[in-house]
Amino acid sequence: MTNDIIVVKGLVKNYKNVKAVKDITFSVKEGELFAFLGENGAGKSTTINVLCQVLNKTSGKVIIDGFDIDKDSLEVKKRIGIVFQGTVLDNILTVKENLISRCAYYGMNHKMAMNRVNELVKPLSLEKLLKRKYQTLSGGERRRVDIARALINKPRILFLDEPTTGLDPKTRKIVWDIISNLRKEINLTVFLTTHYMEECNEADNVIILDSGNIVAEGTPNNLKNLYSSNKLLWYTNDSIDNQGYTF
Ligand code: ADP
Repeated sequence: MTNDIIVVKGLVKNYKNVKAVKDITFSVKEGELFAFLGENGAGKSTTINVLCQVLNKTSGKVIIDGFDIDKDSLEVKKRIGIVFQGTVLDNILTVKENLISRCAYYGMNHKMAMNRVNELVKPLSLEKLLKRKYQTLSGGERRRVDIARALINKPRILFLDEPTTGLDPKTRKIVWDIISNLRKEINLTVFLTTHYMEECNEADNVIILDSGNIVAEGTPNNLKNLYSSNKLLWYTNDSIDNQGYTF
């Protein structure tokens, strides 16, 4: 049976008097593609930032790969990578310089850093980008480098906060294919937030968040069967006998 790699119990996060996340409980299985779906302000980023220890929670329990974030913060940090909505890379450094300096953050020497960067070149198609300054890259190229940065420490879980927002459909697909390949190749657990319904189609499990509450949870198919129907509205010329068929 597959293990729960993320367990969240009774998570609450308040910003002074704003109740951003209101007592949510859920778990994520190892190797899963897990999606948090919700409109702006639903509490997606707040949750992901608490799980990644960027923000302190108000109350509740979070266990990542068997480690409690309150007690084993360092062990948790070793196991996760995060792609934030905004970049955290240095605009005036080249892609290679950015990635190597990130390796130093994890205590790798230059040789180890070069090896790790080289390992990431192929899966993220970075061949032509390494010598370019980060600020000269397109949105899609930046996302690929952001994902490489998040994978430097060989995390078991990759968190992606709205990874394709602002990208055109073609670039969105490229980023999406890279994520799918990484999952297959290294059994990465991927936790992503999105407000695009269609991005959840590929997910193994989806949670829909609304105003800090979980309002629905299940596989994309379950959710579609439960909450949507296809409706054909049929209007006649004289509009007397309008018909609507649900199927
Ligand atoms: P989402 O990622 O789903 O768009 P957020 O987690 O960013 O939602 O926000 C959830 C709620 O918390 C919103 O009402 C937002 O205005 C509020 N919020 C987010 N960050 C802060 C902050 N630093 N201070 C006060 N309120 C915040």
